[in-house]
Amino acid sequence: MNCPYCGYHDSKVIDSRNVQDGIRRRRQCLDCDARFTTYERLQPAGPFVIKKDQRREEFDKNKLLTGIRKACEKRPLPTDAVERLADEIEAELYQQNKAEIPSAGIGDMVMERLRSLDFIAYIRFASVYREFTDITALKQVVDSLVGDEVQARRPDAQLPLIPAEEPGTAVRRPVRSRK
Ligand SMILES: [Zn+2]
Repeated sequence: MNCPYCGYHDSKVIDSRNVQDGIRRRRQCLDCDARFTTYERLQPAGPFVIKKDQRREEFDKNKLLTGIRKACEKRPLPTDAVERLADEIEAELYQQNKAEIPSAGIGDMVMERLRSLDFIAYIRFASVYREFTDITALKQVVDSLVGDEVQARRPDAQLPLIPAEEPGTAVRRPVRSRK
């Protein structure tokens, strides 16, 4: 840890104590004598993701967010819906406490949640993740969603495929009766 005042690379520890979730160290710069405090905490180890080509990569929530954001682009979703979804998946991954998880497993978790959130985002995500190579594969997914939609008890459980008009334009002005 470089000195925050002069940038010198070395300091001595003048006090050290255990705090709630780590160790607090009071330090003094060996160059300018300024005092500052550092905290040391245990970083929980995240899982490694096994990619399709068997390479391992540390789980990266930002990558996950980017993928979900792309699928949800311009969809009429609450602003925090994407972050919430990524948070949920991250929490679940840490809970599972596995050292490694196949990327397909994470993809399935996203698909499952997008399916109940927004059909269009679901299809977009599926088309990237499942790598549809022909229209038949895409049609199968769409057909399965159409089946869901027909069976859905609440017709407005899903967001409309085509967003309604702007709220302002939908308002009808009262017609004045002429006498
Ligand atoms: Zn210093």
